[in-house]
Amino acid sequence: MNIDRDKFLTEVMNECWHGVEIVDYRNNAGSSQALCKCGQGSRWKSQFNDDDFQFTQNDFSTWKCFEKLFNLLTHHDRKFEFFTKYGAIVHGDDEPKFYIEDSLIDPDKFADIAYAFLK
Ligand SMILES: [Zn+2]
Repeated sequence: MNIDRDKFLTEVMNECWHGVEIVDYRNNAGSSQALCKCGQGSRWKSQFNDDDFQFTQNDFSTWKCFEKLFNLLTHHDRKFEFFTKYGAIVHGDDEPKFYIEDSLIDPDKFADIAYAFLK
């Protein structure tokens, strides 16, 4: 996980980088949960440890986020520029198909490239 990169890419996707703004707390006997401005809660915090509230944020080192990022780029305004530079575009009878170089089929590498390209 790379916080600057992952926060930036999350915001490009118009998703919330949870936990920046905590608007409320839910409490029960042994733990409490913070609520983000978007309504999503953190993972429960136990009263016995001092860790900050942990929100589930996009981690672009994972295959799940790789897929989301690939999907974002194939729909982005600059998709032709991006895939010309880092892969290939195949024009057939239907919609163009977008491919990336084999060396970028790696969540971290792909996210680094996308970050450098979009920021
Ligand atoms: Zn949020």
